[in-house]
Amino acid sequence: MADILYTYNDNVYVNLTNKCDCACRFCIRSHHDGVGDAETLWHKVDPTLEEVKAAIDAYDFTGKKELVYCGYGEPTCALENLIDSAKYAKEKYGVEIRVNTNGLGNLYHKKDIVPLLAEVVDTISISLNAPTKEEYMDVTRPKFADAFEGMLAFAKECGEQIKKVKFSVVDVLSTEDIEASRKLADSLGVELRVRPFV
Ligand code: SF4
Repeated sequence: MADILYTYNDNVYVNLTNKCDCACRFCIRSHHDGVGDAETLWHKVDPTLEEVKAAIDAYDFTGKKELVYCGYGEPTCALENLIDSAKYAKEKYGVEIRVNTNGLGNLYHKKDIVPLLAEVVDTISISLNAPTKEEYMDVTRPKFADAFEGMLAFAKECGEQIKKVKFSVVDVLSTEDIEASRKLADSLGVELRVRPFV
């Protein structure tokens, strides 16, 4: 069975699902089977809520303030298990909750999921990936034709309902693209984080 919780750079992550509605060119899944102390993050079958809770109970949260939903798939594709296990971890272990997402959850579920996330999520990091629709579609290869617009609308809505919202791009973008991404993020009132490509 694949690792459900794993530690990387002193942070603890939940690998909830291998489902994803994108096929990003830079996705780490195409390069390594695992990250940090995880041997493999490929599930044979996605874990049940009970299995996620058991993995949370088995983890030593000493010194950890945050639990991050980010694995070999898009966490909001397993929305119910995300919300329920995050509530469980928060209540039982007092950790804050961060979700790293592609921001396509409203399109994937064909409904507004932000109010559900806002009940339990403290920080949401949304992959902006590129400053224009053309570049975004090329690098992210999402299932939805209106993914870029949907992701921006999702981010704006998160900004109204969730405590901390960030956009992320990877540092392989050109200086011009990073600057353009920053302007786009600023226009939506969202902070931009430039993260290293691993
Ligand atoms: S959204 Fe995340 S998991 Fe999905 S393909 Fe892109 S980088 Fe990989």
